[in-house]
Amino acid sequence: MSNNQIRVSIGGDTQFISQADLKLGTKTVKKPVRAAKKAQGPRNPKPKEWLAKDLSQGYIADYKPFNFVDGEGVRCSLYVSGCMFACPGCYNKVAQNFHYGRPYTQELEDQILRDLGEDYVQGLTLLGGEPFLNTQVCLRLTRRIRQEYGDKKDIWSWTGYTWDELLQDSKDKLDLLNEIDILVDGRFMEDLKDLTLQFRGSSNQRIIDVKKSLAQNKVVLWDKLLK
Ligand code: SF4
Repeated sequence: MSNNQIRVSIGGDTQFISQADLKLGTKTVKKPVRAAKKAQGPRNPKPKEWLAKDLSQGYIADYKPFNFVDGEGVRCSLYVSGCMFACPGCYNKVAQNFHYGRPYTQELEDQILRDLGEDYVQGLTLLGGEPFLNTQVCLRLTRRIRQEYGDKKDIWSWTGYTWDELLQDSKDKLDLLNEIDILVDGRFMEDLKDLTLQFRGSSNQRIIDVKKSLAQNKVVLWDKLLK
């Protein structure tokens, strides 16, 4: 550190910035702060640090029936509101807010169940936001799907948690994991971004066969993975 630099803390990270850059109100101070935030990457929670019971407002950002992009086959996708990971480059930043969108309702749930009843629909996809920080909504819906359709409809979920993190986390997260067939795990990492990947945005993310992984006590990738 040179004499004209001072130490600042940005989001818990120590940065060294020149005194000239710290003239408040000038553009020069904003640039290093923005760059530092980007370099910081997503947040990394301790096990059970973030709990749906404390965070979820029971809101959803969107519901998209009959789409072809959120997993295999024709799918009905529920985008829940609220995520704590704050990945730089997040594909759905507005849905990081737990109050974004509208409340999940019985009417919407009935609509989703009706839509899933169409023969050409393969299953439900949960995205966000973070489904595992909205377990009240996601467990209620997935349990009803299992009650009414058994395993005839499959359930996919995206999550910012890694597989190992989920296994060490709260019971509601494990309960939701047990309702899911395919999990796309891990934060979006901008420096690993690859738009050619199947159903993922960055190469650290995996498409995991949940039932096989739980049965074999190790991560088993989806057997239809192309790239
Ligand atoms: S985990 Fe997903 S929704 Fe959450 S901040 Fe990262 S990219 Fe966005």
